[in-house]
Amino acid sequence: MDFLAHGKRWNCNRRRCFQHSPVSETFEKIPKERHLSLCPCKSKKSYQDCCLPFHQNKALPKTAEALMRSRYSAFFFRLVDYLIETTHPDNRSQNLKRELEGTIHHTDWKFLTIVSVSKGQKDENRGKVEFIADYYWDGEVQQLHEHSRFRRYKGKWKYYDNKG
Ligand SMILES: [Zn+2]
Repeated sequence: MDFLAHGKRWNCNRRRCFQHSPVSETFEKIPKERHLSLCPCKSKKSYQDCCLPFHQNKALPKTAEALMRSRYSAFFFRLVDYLIETTHPDNRSQNLKRELEGTIHHTDWKFLTIVSVSKGQKDENRGKVEFIADYYWDGEVQQLHEHSRFRRYKGKWKYYDNKG
């Protein structure tokens, strides 16, 4: 997902501005009760049976769609380090961490709809996922419709870009 473009039209006058508040929320900050609640990626599974093991680095997503869902959940929980780790090194800019930290606190993710999936299966190295994500940007309703491309890097699925 590429939400960083939003940051460019953002003027900070908010209390939650990354320059004025702690950044990089870590996995440990997620309350344990949330492990039992439904996963933010709308899989209808509990978080602990869905994206949690990926966020804990205890398992790897086997498909591009699974990685995409886990990245959506990571945006939901503001897990910046996971988002960086799952971005393909070819497109992992040096400013990525700072850019994510500058935008991630402005978004509240509401809903994920997977529109279509092309390839990206267990025995493949590339895949595409089309999705619609609904969110609030500083309280304003927004919708992101993206065609994400994914590639394997050293055996692991990574988000490549949004030019699918
Ligand atoms: Zn999930």
